[in-house]
Amino acid sequence: MANTLLELRNVSMVYGRGARRFTAVQSVNLQLREGEFVALLGPAGCGKSTLLRIITGLARPTYGLVIYRDNLITDVNPYATIVFQTFALFPWLTVQQNVELALKARGVPYPERAQRAEALLDKVGLDGFENAYPRELSGGMRQKVGFARAMAVEPELLCLDEPFSSLDVLSAEALRGELLELWLAGDIPTKAILMVTHNIEEAVLLADRIIVMDKQPGRVVAEVTIDLPHPRQRKSPEFIARVDQVYATLAGQTEPEPIELGVAPGEPGRKRTLPDITLGDLAGLLETVAAEPDDRADLYHLVEELKVDSDHILRLTEAAEMLGFATVSQGDIVLTPLGETFADGSIQLRKQLFATRLRRLPFFRWLLSLLQSAERHRLRWEVIQAALELDFPPAEAEKQLEIAVRWGRYAELFGYDDDSEMLYLEEEEEKVAV
Ligand code: ADP
Ligand code: MG
Repeated sequence: MANTLLELRNVSMVYGRGARRFTAVQSVNLQLREGEFVALLGPAGCGKSTLLRIITGLARPTYGLVIYRDNLITDVNPYATIVFQTFALFPWLTVQQNVELALKARGVPYPERAQRAEALLDKVGLDGFENAYPRELSGGMRQKVGFARAMAVEPELLCLDEPFSSLDVLSAEALRGELLELWLAGDIPTKAILMVTHNIEEAVLLADRIIVMDKQPGRVVAEVTIDLPHPRQRKSPEFIARVDQVYATLAGQTEPEPIELGVAPGEPGRKRTLPDITLGDLAGLLETVAAEPDDRADLYHLVEELKVDSDHILRLTEAAEMLGFATVSQGDIVLTPLGETFADGSIQLRKQLFATRLRRLPFFRWLLSLLQSAERHRLRWEVIQAALELDFPPAEAEKQLEIAVRWGRYAELFGYDDDSEMLYLEEEEEKVAV
């Protein structure tokens, strides 16, 4: 077994205090060995970036240990570097100067640092662009400068935080290929790569091992080994089988209703956040599945067919499960009779079905009863958000309320007035006894 570079032992990260304590990462154990390319995969908000910050020593975990080559990391880890999604280059420096700066910070003298910067830029395919300024470069090229700068530090452990997600499809694919080539050729002193992504195919394409995370709380739920040789063929049956396997792991299994629905804000127990989706997209998903034999579809197949990213399909699937329109098992989504009715229904019927289901969700029960008991059945946005902030970090609380308002308006359960920033019960809803 190759040498272990990095080990996380029981790492947890808790943000906030008192009533606002919030566990972003819970009891993560993982090991990274020399020679490995590992992907950390999971939905937005599951703590991937937090883990990278902990690993590189930019953040200290609340609990647990970070061990690098038998040393406890208590400060910035000198052996690890992060490349962020959008790499911050200094706009007033040329490409060459941006890379040289990283070398200068490491004490590499001139002219050696100029030569090394040039060689690095050459390596990432930016030969001829040394004197360009960042604004003159495409997104893909800027990201290459970011790679060159990260590699200038010759990190043993290269951490990549969604490095391709801000690029267009073609640049992302080209850059993935180039990264893999550098890595496989062993031209760089890097001994291991840890890449954060929410893109399942990207993880299967690049990594030797995928660590699958889930949120609420952020934690590791599974590990999948990808032992396919490079270059991997996206269309090959082996590749597709691995992608399916990861989907199955990520989409999980529909749980019994009390677990699936979670508890209302303020109650003890497992909260469910409302997935950020539009109702048009949800209807689109249900219609597509309804058109398949047995009202059943393979999730990966849907991603291809609907031309959306995997994260989006998983959010839609989560919404469909929560609303009782579908169940998920082994990477397949199957419509329930209610989901079929929805897919075939008129707009009016859909709104009614949706409203009926929303009333069952603890989140909406809580929100509706809050409005019921408010004076004139009206409440200010900020009051509700403040209440949610006892359970969620402020940005998440705001997002949850935005989603709830979008869904509630569609179902005509309550309205929202932009000018006064008030949520109010629809008349019909006022009559429903609490
Ligand atoms: P990911 O990278 O998987 O999307 P993050 O690690 O960025 O997730 O965040 C995990 C959770 O922790 C999110 O809910 C996020 O809002 C929260 N979070 C991240 N950083 C902070 C912070 N500095 N203070 C409070 N909450 C934070
Ligand atoms: Mg992140």
